Amino acid sequence: MATTLKVKKGDTVQVLTGKDRGKQGRVIKVLPEKNRVIVEGVNLIKRHTKPNPQRQIKGGVIEREAPLHASNVQMICPECGKPTRLGKKILGDGRKVRICRKCEGVVDK
Ligand SMILES: [Zn+2]
Repeated sequence: MATTLKVKKGDTVQVLTGKDRGKQGRVIKVLPEKNRVIVEGVNLIKRHTKPNPQRQIKGGVIEREAPLHASNVQMICPECGKPTRLGKKILGDGRKVRICRKCEGVVDK
């Protein structure tokens, strides 16, 4: 699939598959080498931690986001607010930006 014109940190995306399907969230981390993204509040996994007083860690269950494959999320266009695919455009000043294929709005500011 040649769909992934890359999602970047700070983008809002919608989840396409899995238990969080339909959820939207902000990308808080991109793992380019694994083609994965971490989305705020999405794909939470519970981790059991042991208390470690030296590092001031209380034992218990913490929830944290697990990475999702980049192909399982879809960009939400900040201009039209719809899930969309991204295109590329070169601006007059030579800057490459990502654009929304639906509204042609520039996604990168
Ligand atoms: Zn748009």
